[in-house]
Amino acid sequence: MDINYVEFRRRIFTWYRQHSRSLPWRCIGDKADPYRVWVSEIMLQQTTTKTVEGYFDRFVNRFPTITALAAAPLDEVNRLWEGLGYYRRCVQMHRAAQEIVNRFDGVFPNKINDVLNLPGIGRYTAGAILSIAFDQRQPILEANTIRLHARLLALKALPTQKEANARLWDFAEAILPKKNAGRFNQALMDLGNLICTPQQPQCRHCPVVRFCETARLGLQSEIPCLKAKEEKENRTEAALLVKKQGKVLMIRYPEGVRWAGLWDFPRAETNAEQPNKIAADQGFCERLLLMTGRRLEPGTLLETIKHTVTRFKITLLFCEAVDHGKIALPNTVKPYETKWVTLAELRHIPLHSTGRKLVQKVRLET
Ligand code: SF4
Repeated sequence: MDINYVEFRRRIFTWYRQHSRSLPWRCIGDKADPYRVWVSEIMLQQTTTKTVEGYFDRFVNRFPTITALAAAPLDEVNRLWEGLGYYRRCVQMHRAAQEIVNRFDGVFPNKINDVLNLPGIGRYTAGAILSIAFDQRQPILEANTIRLHARLLALKALPTQKEANARLWDFAEAILPKKNAGRFNQALMDLGNLICTPQQPQCRHCPVVRFCETARLGLQSEIPCLKAKEEKENRTEAALLVKKQGKVLMIRYPEGVRWAGLWDFPRAETNAEQPNKIAADQGFCERLLLMTGRRLEPGTLLETIKHTVTRFKITLLFCEAVDHGKIALPNTVKPYETKWVTLAELRHIPLHSTGRKLVQKVRLET
């Protein structure tokens, strides 16, 4: 179906005037702050708008500027991010803020290549920031607009597939107006979010239904094509509560592993079928030794938590453990950073959400 872009844009803008969502990171008057758009876009990559609102306010109140974010200790930034997941994005945002301070005097750059060279910023985020905050004619493609465009075009391939993805980007660019591209992009996101929903899109209320090939063919439940759901793999992990003189032993995940930068109770995968067999799992004890440089002996089970991380369904066993002290490791082995912390300190260091749940089980003699 040929789309009359002039009419398409007019309909989108008219709809947006009446239905735009009021979100805390959007324009104040005509202006949007690129820093606020950036923070919100990174947060929105991992969860819903509703969840992000609370996190966003806390985050920008504590770090109101790029300079404030760059100057903050990573632990504090991670602590405010805690619960949002995808912690790597938070670490990269902190690093990008430092780069903006060093290379651009703390002012968010407005050239596409400069923005794309910042850690953690891809084509979508750059397009969102430059169009919304600088009104540059840059296309965007995120979950809502991928679904919307795939349906408008009746795209019968996975949107992540190379040619299909290129087609979506071309379309996102072709429909952009010369002026008010940021407003137009926000309108498309809202239309995808409010009308062209994943299930049962409200085609009767859609301002661009006359241009929609999917609506014409009645294929709303088949487009966009989705990847078949992966079966989750079961896995058991054990985390150890090691106590000494009113403190507990914590490890910090290094770069390149799951939850890099976050703290946790010493934790690893175990093959033990029963909690009381963990101490006999040599592989587990070895992993913990290499991680902490200490000989730790698992004991009584305190808590069991079930949770999901990427493709794993994890059963997490939280056990008390006895510390038999430091063991000299070969020079080639670099244990994780460890520290002994009080309960009060535990409240302030950044943990994965399961670690935060386990904290409630910690009782320390003072
Ligand atoms: S007509 Fe329906 S399927 Fe097509 S874009 Fe609008 S809401 Fe989505």
